[in-house]
Amino acid sequence: MNLTSPTQVKAWCIENEFHPNKTLGQNFLIDRNALVSIVDAGLEGVAPGARVLEIGPGMGVLTEEMLNRGYEVVAVEKDPVLAARLAESLGNPPKLTVIAGDALDVLVHPDRFPELNPPPQTPSGPSASFSCMVSNLPYQAGTRILLELVQQRGLQAMTVLVQTEVADRLAAKEGSKTRGLAGVWAQLDYDVKVVRKVAASCFWPRPAIGSSVVTLVRHDRNTGLTEEERDLFHRLTKQAFEHRRKQLGSIFKDLIQSTARAEELSNDDWINLVKGLLNEDA
Ligand code: SAH
Repeated sequence: MNLTSPTQVKAWCIENEFHPNKTLGQNFLIDRNALVSIVDAGLEGVAPGARVLEIGPGMGVLTEEMLNRGYEVVAVEKDPVLAARLAESLGNPPKLTVIAGDALDVLVHPDRFPELNPPPQTPSGPSASFSCMVSNLPYQAGTRILLELVQQRGLQAMTVLVQTEVADRLAAKEGSKTRGLAGVWAQLDYDVKVVRKVAASCFWPRPAIGSSVVTLVRHDRNTGLTEEERDLFHRLTKQAFEHRRKQLGSIFKDLIQSTARAEELSNDDWINLVKGLLNEDA
């Protein structure tokens, strides 16, 4: 089946009485140009043969393209019907591993999914055995999945298709109206860049809003932070963005004297605040 042919994808669904599930964010990518740009962006600089993580493979449009380019793919799919048909529909490629399950479970409890384990020659833990993640993420769970992955810091790079609004928030710098917690947390260890927009008409069923391709590439500017500093960074920013209209001075009373609002601070500003507070305690 040609997975970028809307006619063929629809015909398969009708024949198999498969109704795309809105709750699972099933909007299949049916546009060849968009497919090529997300895979190009995701695999840039990644050596062929490397192991790529894909979340929500659906009918397998990205999966097939990555396998064709010589990569090994581990695909995590929550829909049991789609998970069960994926390998066979692509001709049982030896370089494909399918895990039927919720990506959040798989990421939080990797020990329960032996299929995730690196091949014997790879040195350490599950996420370390992947060079990158390339996915058209489901609408609802997308941000949570990304935030879990950025906090694990195991992946060198992630390239995802998400709603444009989510993409812009992830990439937003200080001072921008769209600056929010997801962006602040993602940018702590990743450089975030919006690569291109993908129109709603490139998906079937057609979603209400358009999407964008975003890349997150790990940087090493904050690798020196301790776990205690990271923990306070997350707690402080979470509390601040829960009251984003308020001045920091009125949220944190005696702890922080500032008339600034959460969205105005850069990540370096937050890190300096965190270090200052921990030093005062010492
Ligand atoms: N990658 C495919 C499908 C994208 S739609 C394409 O581009 O065409 C999103 C996919 O994520 C669907 O297949 C849906 O079943 C799956 N999905 C939704 N929630 C999930 C979760 N929590 N974990 C894993 N897969 C999930």
